[in-house]
Amino acid sequence: MVDGALGYHAPMRHPLLLLVAALPSAGSASEGPVARITGAALTRGGAMAFVERLADGIGGRVTGSPQSRAASELLLATLQEAGLEDVRVEEYALESRWERGTASARVVRPVDRPVLAGSFGWSPGTAGSIEAPLVDLGAVTDPGGQVPAERVRGAAVLADFSVVEGHRPFVIRARLARQLAHAGAAALLVPSDKPGRMLDIGCFGNYPRAALPMLSVGLEDGLFLRRLLARGPVTLALDVRNSLDAAAYRERNVVADLRGRERPEEMVLLGAHLDSWETAQGANDNAAGVAVLVEAARVLRSLGLRPRRTIRFAFFTGEEQALLGSRAYVEAHQAELDLLRAVLVVDHGAGARQVPRGVHVNGRTDLQAAAARLLAPLQPLGAGGVSPAASFDTDHGFFLAAGVPALTLWVDEGEYEVHHHAITDSRDKVDPHVLALQTAVVAAVAFSLAEAEEPLGPRLSQDQAAALLRRAGLESSHRLLAGVD
Ligand SMILES: [Zn+2]
Repeated sequence: MVDGALGYHAPMRHPLLLLVAALPSAGSASEGPVARITGAALTRGGAMAFVERLADGIGGRVTGSPQSRAASELLLATLQEAGLEDVRVEEYALESRWERGTASARVVRPVDRPVLAGSFGWSPGTAGSIEAPLVDLGAVTDPGGQVPAERVRGAAVLADFSVVEGHRPFVIRARLARQLAHAGAAALLVPSDKPGRMLDIGCFGNYPRAALPMLSVGLEDGLFLRRLLARGPVTLALDVRNSLDAAAYRERNVVADLRGRERPEEMVLLGAHLDSWETAQGANDNAAGVAVLVEAARVLRSLGLRPRRTIRFAFFTGEEQALLGSRAYVEAHQAELDLLRAVLVVDHGAGARQVPRGVHVNGRTDLQAAAARLLAPLQPLGAGGVSPAASFDTDHGFFLAAGVPALTLWVDEGEYEVHHHAITDSRDKVDPHVLALQTAVVAAVAFSLAEAEEPLGPRLSQDQAAALLRRAGLESSHRLLAGVD
């Protein structure tokens, strides 16, 4: 059939069109905003292209580095081009910058053997090349425990950390590091739990400066050191050369709005961190999340969709250090928090099999029913789920502590933990189909949150939010990252 033929017979009365119009719900649902948004997100391919610009084009983006600045410039230009409003930077004071130097570790007695080691972020170096006896504290499970000061003085201390009732491993690690430094230990060595001798170089609890040199050692290297220790004393030689710079520096978040059509002062905030570690490309952590937000913005603009409330796109820095950018945002925007109806943070990778399942409500069980209704149109994509799971490990944390409804994208685990903060977090680990699916879900959820007649739920009082963090075992994480403990 040609258009002219249809036109000649008066289009609205054409029998085929009448049949389509008479069909039940499927026909009308397919024209709704969620269907339009997901359709566009799944077919444009823009998210993967943006991951490549960040990961291959700029590479690792450590907070305070020229690469972090370059990423923020790229985002400013991209968001402007996408047609968002009030595209801007918001600065905050960074207390210290850090640059990785070489790190060498070696057993010098009873055998002579190299040990695979790499510095944790914001770890100071050693005072030149040093020798230190090795001491093994094993699995540290008591966050309030005392270190045996006599044993650890001058020593390179080996220790493991896992989740202990009410405390995340980085909380216990940071407390032990402070006690070790106080007792005069030379360094803390933490065996990685990644396969293939991959190191794990996070930073939570170390900013603005770790209490003493902290090294990740290969899993196999840790086992070797422990076998040697079982037979007798072991001496290590360490030479770690990092630099910390405490000169005044302003780091920046990038923020842009899609202004609401009816209640622009009310907001839904989408968040992702643009900073990463530099040992790889920060592809799944978190170029993927940044690209999901960028592409969600383009999708909404390209469809000409303008929801009732404003959707704010926030790209934070300093996440890897201590959620610095999002914490600074919450502090700077206190006066608006009552109008911030919800936050959705994307930061758990888009590797193969990391398909989106819905959202985590981070302990806000009072939001579960409303969130499930909102996500119902995403059920056919497998992404209509609502999980009560709570965490404080990315940029939603300080919003949660401020009582704002704080959601995180729920995705399947896949191999995220294997490559997270390792030398293998590169572009090839991001799956274009998963990334497009996540973009579809995030754009649809953001639009639905911003369009809904009623907000998802209330902002909690400070007492209620504090009780939620206590119940979820996140109080010590909050205190550590807020710098009060
Ligand atoms: Zn991350």
